[in-house]
Formats: sequence, C-alpha cells, structure tokens
Amino acid sequence: MALVTLNKSRDDWELVPNLLDYDDARENFSWEHELALLDGLPAGGLNIAHEAVDRHAAGERRNHTALRWLDRQGDATDFSYGELSRLSNRFANVLRQLGVQKGERVFVLSEREPALYITALGTLKNGSVFCPLFSAFGPEPLRARLSIGEAKVLVTSERLYQRKVAALRESLPHLQQVLLVRDAPESALPPATLDFGQLLDHAADEFVIENTDPEDPALLHFTSGTTGKPKGALHVHEAVLAHHASARLALDLHPQDIFWCTADPGWVTGTSYGIIAPLVIGATMIVDREEFDPERWYGILRDHRVSVWYTAPTAVRMMMKVGAELVRQFELPALRFMASVGEPLNPEAVLWGKEAFGLPFHDNWWQTETGGIMIANFLSQPIRPGSMGRPLPGIEAAVVRHCEDGSVEPIVEPDQEGELALKRGWPSMFRTYLYEEERYQKCFHGEWYLTGDLARRDRDGYFWFVGRADDVIKSSGHLIGPFEVESALMEHPAVAEAAVIGVPDPMAGEVVKGFVSLKPGFEAGAALQQEIMALARKRLGPAVAPRQIQIEETLPRTRSGKIMRRLLKARELGLPEGDTSTLEGNE
Ligand code: AMP
Repeated sequence: MALVTLNKSRDDWELVPNLLDYDDARENFSWEHELALLDGLPAGGLNIAHEAVDRHAAGERRNHTALRWLDRQGDATDFSYGELSRLSNRFANVLRQLGVQKGERVFVLSEREPALYITALGTLKNGSVFCPLFSAFGPEPLRARLSIGEAKVLVTSERLYQRKVAALRESLPHLQQVLLVRDAPESALPPATLDFGQLLDHAADEFVIENTDPEDPALLHFTSGTTGKPKGALHVHEAVLAHHASARLALDLHPQDIFWCTADPGWVTGTSYGIIAPLVIGATMIVDREEFDPERWYGILRDHRVSVWYTAPTAVRMMMKVGAELVRQFELPALRFMASVGEPLNPEAVLWGKEAFGLPFHDNWWQTETGGIMIANFLSQPIRPGSMGRPLPGIEAAVVRHCEDGSVEPIVEPDQEGELALKRGWPSMFRTYLYEEERYQKCFHGEWYLTGDLARRDRDGYFWFVGRADDVIKSSGHLIGPFEVESALMEHPAVAEAAVIGVPDPMAGEVVKGFVSLKPGFEAGAALQQEIMALARKRLGPAVAPRQIQIEETLPRTRSGKIMRRLLKARELGLPEGDTSTLEGNE
C-alpha cells in the first residue's frame, strides 16, 4: 500500500505540528491536561461559549478576527473576538428577557449568516441548548425535529419562515418565540414573530454567563437511523474538551491559522468545526454564505490566505471533475493542511490533492454521536490513502465482533471486518437520544459504544471504512434515514408501500432511490412517477428527497412484514441477494 509521507524532521516545519509523534502523543495525553488548557468559568463551571469567545475577548486576542463572513458577492465582514463576545452577550440578554431558561432549546434555521453564529454563542451563554437545522430541509423534516426537540425558540430568516415554518406553527405547541432575521425591517412583521435585529439592537452589551456544569446540555444534533423518527443526539458543555483536542491534534489548528470548514452548521461538522473548534483555539474562521463553486472556493483560499481547510469528499470529487489545472491558476502559499470528513475519501482523491494543491487530503472519521473527530490521518504522520487514519490521543477505538451471548469483543487479529466501536467516556460522547433513553442504551455494549459502521484495522493500527451496518444513506455527506423519506412517499394517495435505498453516485457518493408499489386503481407511468417525486421534494427538501422513483408491482417483504431494503439494493446493484430465507413467498 502506498504511503504518503512528508518525511520532515522537527526543524523542517515552518510551524511545528501540534502532534509530532503519534505514540508519544497518545502516551502523554490526558483529558485533565486538556481541561487545564481551557479557562473554566469564574464560579467553577464550564461553558463552551466562554471558552470559544469570552476568554479570548478578555485577553490579547480581543481585536483578533474571530469570524470573517463572506456575503454573496464575496465581500468580507470581520467580527473580532471582542465583537463576537458583545453580540453574543446581547443575544443571551434577549433570551433572558424572553424568559428562556437554562436547558431550554433554541433552534436555528438559517443560511450561513452572522445571526446564526451570534445565536449559537448567545444560546450557550444563556445555558440553553443550541439546535441547528439544515436550511435545505423541507417542512416535514423541520416539523419532526422542532417537535421532537420541543423547540421553545426558533431563529430564522423571514424568507425561510414564510416558505417553510409559518404553516407548521399550529402543530408546534412548544414553540413560543420565533425571531426573524429580516432584509426589510421597515415592513410589517408576520403574526406571532419578533424582529431579531431589533431585539439585538436594544439588548445590553454585558452578560454574566450562566454557570453551566460540564455535564449540562449544550448542543442537540438530529441524526437518522434506519427506523423510526430522527434521533436527537444531546451533547454537553464538556464536549469542548474534545473540540479543542481534536482541533489541535487532528486539524493541527494554531491560533495564527485562518481556518475554513466548508460544512453547514445545520450538520454536526459545521457546528463542532464550523463554529466551536476554531474559536476555542483562538484562530480566524472563514464563513462563506454561498454554496460550492470551484472558482469561488479557490479564490477564497487565496484571497483570505486560508491555512487549514476542512472539507468533504463530495466537494473534492466535484473539484476533481473540474480538474487540477484550474487550481494551479491560484497561488495558495498560505495553505498548509487539508482535511476531509463525512464519507469515504477515495485514495485517488487523497493523491489528487497532492497533484492539484501540492498537499494530500487527510481523511478523518467521526459521526454526530461522537461530537468530534475520533480517527484521523495526522499532518506529521504517513497517510494511508483510503484509510480513515488512527484514533486520536484520548480515544480508544476497536473493531468488534458480536458474540452469540449478545456481548461484543474486540477483534485482535488485523484486517478482519467487524463493527467499529469506541470505548465510552470521551467528553464529546452524546449523553442521550432526546426522550429515547432506551434507544441510546442500545448503542452500548459494556464499555463499548457501537458506531453502526463496519471497518477493518490493519496491523499498524490504521482503520479502513467498509460500509454501514444499517440501511442509512449518505448523500453528499448528509446522513438520511430511509424511514423519513418513505413516510413522505407514503403521503401520496397512489402509494401503497415505499422503500428507499442509497445507490452509488459518482459525485454524491450515494443518492436516494425510492421504490413504491401502488394502491389499486392507480396506473404506473412517468407522469405518476414525476408527481410522487415532486411531492417528496416539496415535503422533504432537495437534500433529502429521492432522485429517482421506481414503481414496482410489490416490494419484497419478510414474512413478518418488514420491507427488505437490502434485497432491493442487491437487485439494483446486481449483487448476490444473500439470505432470502425470510422473504415472503419463500416458504
Ligand atoms: P453524521 O452523523 O451525519 O456525521 O454521519 C456519520 C457517518 O458518516 C459515519 O457513521 C460514517 O458512516 C460516515 N463517515 C464519516 N466520516 C467518514 C469517513 N472518513 N469515511 C467513511 N465514512 C465516514
């Protein structure tokens, strides 16, 4: 297996990496030491927003740029640590005035606008729980999440509110306050909403952060399983230790870095690394309002002298399609580290990084439940292209087998496939699935948290992604629960049953494909197919809706009545159908 090695000694680095020797770093790591690198609250608690903003604002970094926001035209607005501290204080005061308590949940549905970042930090200061929603979600995923999360406050733009939320208000009894970020503040406000900008303008600059305990809830991220409703993974303030450690060690972030995480804060990467981690380090983070566009992206890397860049395989594949020549037209002397997460990063993509940027992409692995990077290819260490890398210092990972007695045990022999597991107890481990403690407990077997991913570990301790152990779909880095999509398809009056699977796609990794059978009296045909697809798009939004629909006479079911998505997938991909002994009709 080819290794990508940088072969540098300590003196060769312009900026000495935070992790120089992997074994050494593991041996000398402790979470107590990581805690000592942070501040803590005066009264003894721990608060993410204090570590991210206020401790820098109180010191030498007060005037250092914390957030550089790029608008549609690419024009930059800078927010220093001092300003971000003041604005988030104001929002925390707004929440306090509105009677929003510690532990209550504040949701955000927004494009990447400054208000999103101010809301996130102000919410944490108030001791409330920040819950981001993806702005490309349609009304149905939004309703489900706002309702499960019992959202008390929603911050959104007037446009998104009118298009997606206004019609849901009646079905959301917990939602007491909706704060709108408005383009035209002089126009009349929609009923039962408040003006975010006006509230912020009138709030006081000073705020004493709620004395949160490390175990107090801070962040709620929704994720999807194979069955049932979306799951709300709840994280606590102590997670900031893992954000800090992983930013230092896996992303090699230093306070002098200009860091750009391209993920949207509607997903966990965009919050852990698109808000919290770079600020905790004291770096400058870039936020771009716009979506992927190769020229715009390379222009941002160049013009803003991005030094550390965290992106995703779908974006890398799209850049590869455009070709390395375009990249080479941009001089990027500041860029020193590139990382990727969210889906398998093909070995060719790792190496293409070298060809196009002169730097390889460093793959790393984690998921919503882990709250931060768990496995990574480190800057100073050889990369194995196609491998996710090795566990971070402080993280114990294993490939486990399921034993007949229901227990799990680590597989010691190398190169064996099994389920990827993590030893419980790291700070950013989710603490529950909101109101679904049983579902949460099922993720743990003894000391191991089971990730739902299949993997191998080679003899040098590098982990290799094999696939998912369940039926969830990864499309453009977004995890999609089949059940949520199937439920939307079932809303069409012609649909009798529905099943969705992920099918390979050269750009998105996978795209959603739906199979439906029809109720009697409905005629299969292209028009009906289109109609079902349009309904799904309207209900779910373009990021989640199926790209293809196929109408079938019947869908394969087990004798107990469960639709066999795996069989549909095997048939779709021309793979062996596996064990079909439980298939209905196979008596
Ligand atoms: P999410 O919770 O939405 O962040 O999705 C987490 C899932 O994305 C993981 O359980 C994996 O299935 C997949 N994933 C994340 N990072 C990687 C990676 N580096 N390689 C392969 N799959 C990944």
